[in-house]
Amino acid sequence: MKKLIRGIVDFRKNVRPGYKDIFAQLALGQRPDTLFIACSDSRVVPNLFASSDPGDLLVVRNVGNLIPPCGAPDRRSGEDSEAAAIEFGLRSLPITDIIVCGHSECGAMMALAQGRGQIESPFLKSWLRHGDGSLRRLDSAIHSDAHLERHNRLSRANVLEQMEHLKTYPLIRERMEAGRLRLHGWWFDIKEADVYEYSAEEGKFHLIDDEYARILLQRAELPGA
Ligand code: ZN
Repeated sequence: MKKLIRGIVDFRKNVRPGYKDIFAQLALGQRPDTLFIACSDSRVVPNLFASSDPGDLLVVRNVGNLIPPCGAPDRRSGEDSEAAAIEFGLRSLPITDIIVCGHSECGAMMALAQGRGQIESPFLKSWLRHGDGSLRRLDSAIHSDAHLERHNRLSRANVLEQMEHLKTYPLIRERMEAGRLRLHGWWFDIKEADVYEYSAEEGKFHLIDDEYARILLQRAELPGA
């Protein structure tokens, strides 16, 4: 906490002057083009690893970067936060891309991998049921992930599972079919501070290095890509 307070003082003195015009402009409104869905984990820092600025990302963060499927029979009251962000992002903001970003050494995935039945915290045990499908998906896991530890393979499978959950929302499906929305699966490797993107063509997570970034940038230019 002390670090945060000192950080505000440092920001006001050293950083704020350079951002004053940007924030004055942003006070008039935000126009992010990307909805970023990530885990609450303190080590996942999109502003740092994707060099994003204020106004770039609409962000949803929760334990395990999970999306409760739309219309699921076991949906509970109080689990509308993610759906509300999807609605707001697509209806009120110019969102054209949604990124589900998982990460290595995820505590939620470790707990899920050990079995939800063993989790003593009732809310966590209930919330993580949205990852049950990820566990089932692990059996048919991506071949190139075989070298990873089980919880990390699960974390990658979970990114793909949550992308499928996103597609249960009619608004998302409609926008995708109209070529106005793209979904992406990212995975942040904490130890190496590397970011991977799931390539549907290759059926694997691909390191976003200079060369692959060039391919992704070209693809981003294509309408409906
Ligand atoms: Zn996590």
